[in-house]
Amino acid sequence: MTRCGIAYDIHRLASGRKLIIGGVEVPFDKGSVGHSDGDVLSHAICDALLGAAGLGDIGTHFPDTDPKWRGASSAVFLEHVCKLLHKAHLRIAHIDAIVVIEKPKLGPHFPAMHKALARSLDIEERQINLKAKTNEGVGAVGRGEAIVAHAIASLEG
Ligand code: MG
Repeated sequence: MTRCGIAYDIHRLASGRKLIIGGVEVPFDKGSVGHSDGDVLSHAICDALLGAAGLGDIGTHFPDTDPKWRGASSAVFLEHVCKLLHKAHLRIAHIDAIVVIEKPKLGPHFPAMHKALARSLDIEERQINLKAKTNEGVGAVGRGEAIVAHAIASLEG
């Protein structure tokens, strides 16, 4: 049986924060605001995987009220979700994701993101597809005030 999960995440961008996307620090003058490292792509992937597994959402497993997760690397979230999937005898088939940010260009960072995500999820890099888009100058993302990620994941088992 193949199961699919969909996810969306958004983080505000502010100066004085690191911009971590897919486990990679992207050099930029703003970073994402969040209780953890604010890694919007990793959060969306976690949520898509949890959704496909029928295991709720990221907020259930990593509540932002829990000081344990303050400043946590989202790689830890991915690794934990990976363990939950193994426990449920589910295998990741494929992940597709879109990151929406006005600036900077993300394409040059995709190889490093593929590597980091595949390592955290214990899968092959070819099982992950990443896409980047701008918001054509529209809305909060278009004004450079926020970063968004969408993800879909399919599981087998
Ligand atoms: Mg988030």
